[in-house]
Amino acid sequence: MATTRKPRLNTDQLRKGILAGERSVLAQAITIAESTLEVDRLITEQLVEQLLPNTGKSIRIGITGVPGVGKSTFIEVFGELLTGQGRKVGVLTVDPSSEKSKGSILGDKTRMEQLSKNPKVFIRPSPSNLALGGVTHHTRESVLLCEAAGFDVILIETVGVGQSETYVRNMVDFFLLMTLAGAGDELQGIKKGIMEMADGVVITKSERENIKASVQAMADTRNAIHLLASPASAWKPKVLAISALENKGIKEVWEMILEYQKHVQSSGYFEENRRLQKKKWLEECLESYFREYVNGKSFKDKKEKVLEKVMKDTLLPTDAARQLWNSL
Ligand code: GDP
Repeated sequence: MATTRKPRLNTDQLRKGILAGERSVLAQAITIAESTLEVDRLITEQLVEQLLPNTGKSIRIGITGVPGVGKSTFIEVFGELLTGQGRKVGVLTVDPSSEKSKGSILGDKTRMEQLSKNPKVFIRPSPSNLALGGVTHHTRESVLLCEAAGFDVILIETVGVGQSETYVRNMVDFFLLMTLAGAGDELQGIKKGIMEMADGVVITKSERENIKASVQAMADTRNAIHLLASPASAWKPKVLAISALENKGIKEVWEMILEYQKHVQSSGYFEENRRLQKKKWLEECLESYFREYVNGKSFKDKKEKVLEKVMKDTLLPTDAARQLWNSL
């Protein structure tokens, strides 16, 4: 059966559709943002720049935790809670597995099935054709596009693999770490660095026979946090226990985030953090340009030439590097 492809909208149509909150237009804009074609890059930049005055009004929340900890089940109930309060929720995922295996740890298709039917929700899986650096770059643009489309809570989900947490931390207002209560060893499984990034920690699956272990895990986690240096936000990260299955503790997670927001808005940290994140974004982009350049053919050819001289001991590596640098 022949399929008819929808005609591609122009920048003006995209802008209007997004401002009208049309999810299908938003989806199309994000597809263009994820494209690696130069022409699509330019369209995206133009579109997002035009929409900038309509962005920034959401609360951006990062959610991390190992596969199986209960992230998507939590997002299902959390999303229902928020949309029940009249909010619009965007869910984006940053999945580092896709760069190696092209397979997704998060297995997006079957996840959050209920929530994806909710008209106040927009769910977008991680682009699978990009390296992690590229994924996060486009995720930032997707956040802005979602905001322009009126989504006021943006959830960015990632798994505890590689650098993805650091990237996600650098694009959100609040970073939530989800962890499982175990036989007292749960903290060993969590890298200290991730704990330092968290504004809140949630112990999942805290119901029935798991409750005792959860209480212990909460105490252990609070002790661990106590030992960390005070974060720049001057906010003491909170530790909660939830059961997404029994819908317990979910409201409290939202209250914690609101309390955090109030705290950092009154201290000025909220705005300061967003300013720093824009700077970070620029730096990441520049780094990727540099990386692309030094891996490009013309630079590699030049490098081969000076390398020959280095190997013959007619040129010092430091001199060779300076010559290369000056030839940029
Ligand atoms: P993710 O990989 O972190 O997104 O984890 P999922 O949300 O897919 O959950 C992994 C498994 O844990 C699934 O079988 C869920 O049904 C189960 N699960 C999630 N939340 C809870 C909970 O609150 N209680 C219990 N008992 N199981 C849960």
